[in-house]
Amino acid sequence: MTTTAPSLTHSPARPDRQLLMDRSVPGRRGVRMPDLDTPPQPLPDASLLRDDLPLPELSQPEVVRYFTRLSQLNYSIDTQFYPLGSCTMKYNPKINDQAAMLPGMAGLHPLAPAEAAQGALKLMYRLQSYLCEVAGMSAASLAPMAGAQGELSGVLMVRAYHQARGDARRKVMLIPDSAHGTNPASAAMGGFTVTAIPSDSRGNMDLAALRKAAGPDLAGLMITLPSTLGLFDGGILEICDIVHRAGGLVYGDGANMNALLGQAKLGRLGFDVIHSNLHKTFSTPHGGGGPGAGPVIAGQTLTPYLPAPVVERQTAHGKETYRLATPPQSIGKVGAFHGNFGVLVRAYAYIRALGGEGLRQASQDAVLNANYLQARLRDAYDLAYDRLCMHEVVLSAERQKKQGVKGLDVAKRLLDYGYHAPTMYFPLIVDEALMIEPTESESKETLDAFAEAMLAIAGEAQETPELVRGAPHTTAVSRLDEARAARQPDLRWKAKA
Ligand SMILES: *Cc1c(COP(=O)(O)O)cnc(C)c1O
Repeated sequence: MTTTAPSLTHSPARPDRQLLMDRSVPGRRGVRMPDLDTPPQPLPDASLLRDDLPLPELSQPEVVRYFTRLSQLNYSIDTQFYPLGSCTMKYNPKINDQAAMLPGMAGLHPLAPAEAAQGALKLMYRLQSYLCEVAGMSAASLAPMAGAQGELSGVLMVRAYHQARGDARRKVMLIPDSAHGTNPASAAMGGFTVTAIPSDSRGNMDLAALRKAAGPDLAGLMITLPSTLGLFDGGILEICDIVHRAGGLVYGDGANMNALLGQAKLGRLGFDVIHSNLHKTFSTPHGGGGPGAGPVIAGQTLTPYLPAPVVERQTAHGKETYRLATPPQSIGKVGAFHGNFGVLVRAYAYIRALGGEGLRQASQDAVLNANYLQARLRDAYDLAYDRLCMHEVVLSAERQKKQGVKGLDVAKRLLDYGYHAPTMYFPLIVDEALMIEPTESESKETLDAFAEAMLAIAGEAQETPELVRGAPHTTAVSRLDEARAARQPDLRWKAKA
């Protein structure tokens, strides 16, 4: 007789796999209501009451076990290595969460008058300055609440700049073909026409194509550095120069600053405005959609157009005070109040704890880790571009595809080995792309274990491709109909009719 391991797929036959409602037993109780300490009140009108309220009836241990198990089905950076590219799933020191949870931070009312919120305003002012220092720029607004919102803010600033100069014919935004999808979306939302600039054979921007596209209708260029291919484009000075000579401005997608901290300042390279994702580079746990912060940081030219509010410092009679202000030619507000304050506190705490030297070290380690994985995996997988990478490395499963195993299959098989999948099929210009960002917070042992898993999968792709094609085999749910999951998500339990 053979014993098989318990199946991990949801099977209603197994009591520990049942949904909460299906475990309900009439009359079972998990809590005892306290005695009334107020006079009993009459019930509302019968039309407002229901006889059948489908709530599960369960004991406390059953509820605790149910939710504890559910929480363990989640994948998180606190439990495992999370090599998701273009996303910087780095470890977020817990002390930053604690700082954000301090009563004076978490309990501060967004409408508190400036006199009563001086500490918070000072924190925001300092964070603005630190971000300017990191970016080599002159002013920042912490208002945008996502990377994409920072992009839209920057794009609207570029539009406002051209309009203020009476140069409304500038309608074209150039964007490299490797760009993150939010870039063309933001440009289009800002009223621009998008022209894609191809990458050359080394993954850099094709300068001849850029020169050709930079005409009198040029509003600007949106570029990511290092590019979303994980590469530092050595032509960046010339790129900025070409755009400026044609009368355009350069927007930098600084969502991921992990390769740049203390290494290169985008402002000095010629960028006019950038955004940075605090929820990637500056230590806010993310995933699942938020909350985030995408401050927009500007050089001299675009400083007057920053979204409101910005925090200003005033000195009178030797005393410093802080207040919210609206820049003179501001594009206006991009959200309620002052942005996601809790995220700003985390970024501030992170920057203060690491200091300039610590940030520089973080970048060096992030780049070293990505190059280490590139070196360990380069014989088993194709490299999209065979050169030093920055904070992330883009592999291609082209070779495995010839053996009948796609990038998607490799990613799914990684789940069996206990790892989150890398970013797949992005950037779009790399066939069978697997984009891996190890971040600075992982040890060599973790990187080695991950590399071993990737190498083992490459071996399986050769010897037992059907094993990889059928993966994952050990997760709670196996392969999903992803198109249906995205288009018709079924996220909530419904009472049986
Ligand atoms: C994540 C990311 C964005 C978008 O940031 P959100 O906060 O998700 O809106 C933009 N560009 C790049 C390169 C990114 O990695």
